[in-house]
Amino acid sequence: MHKYNTEGIVLKSTNYADKDKIYTILTRDYGKVRVLARGVRKITSRRAGNLDTLNYVSLKLTESSGFKNLDEAVVLESFRDIKNDLSISMSAYYLAEIVFRSVEEDDTSPEIFYLLLSTLKKLNQDTALTVNYFEVNLLKKLGYALNLDKCVVCERKMDNTWSSYSFNLDMGGFICNNCEGFGFKVFPDTVYMIQDLQKGKFPVTGAVQDVKVLKQVDSLIKGFVSDNLDVRFKSLELTDR
Ligand SMILES: [Zn+2]
Repeated sequence: MHKYNTEGIVLKSTNYADKDKIYTILTRDYGKVRVLARGVRKITSRRAGNLDTLNYVSLKLTESSGFKNLDEAVVLESFRDIKNDLSISMSAYYLAEIVFRSVEEDDTSPEIFYLLLSTLKKLNQDTALTVNYFEVNLLKKLGYALNLDKCVVCERKMDNTWSSYSFNLDMGGFICNNCEGFGFKVFPDTVYMIQDLQKGKFPVTGAVQDVKVLKQVDSLIKGFVSDNLDVRFKSLELTDR
């Protein structure tokens, strides 16, 4: 029997047997894990509320014959501000779902854990763009970075000699003015903003005033997420409404 301590963010829970639950948790040290919590569905269980989806928790686990059991969970941050706001909470559940569906159980790198934690902490400000930052950087860490170096048709280096920018989702990137018939035209600011996001620079709040650009950034990135992860997210559809 192996015991260990770590921290994690609760992504999902499902009922198991009569009184138990299985939680899927993105941990700092062991990647995405499934843990069995015995007796948490009993009314007297004190642990159940600690394990609400999106909670950032400190964990004590025991592993025996390949099965992880949850011995203790202490809440470090419950993100109550997020959960009390319908629209922001939908975005937060979308982040949990995207990680639940796209991160493999054997991927133990801590980067995605820290990306999710830092995104949840700043989700109250500039929610849509913060989600875009998360999406672009999650995809990059999963190996699906958008091509921002050159034209995806003629391979011309992307620089300030481009007089227009177009985009083609199937080709996974941007298209120069010589090849513009291969995609649809986008605002140059859309390209600059996505470059910043993918470089890990978060655009300064207030510097971006143009709603048309923000909407275009969001729809390009959402398209790229759906295309690469081959899934249309339930919580995303709710957000769209
Ligand atoms: Zn070109």
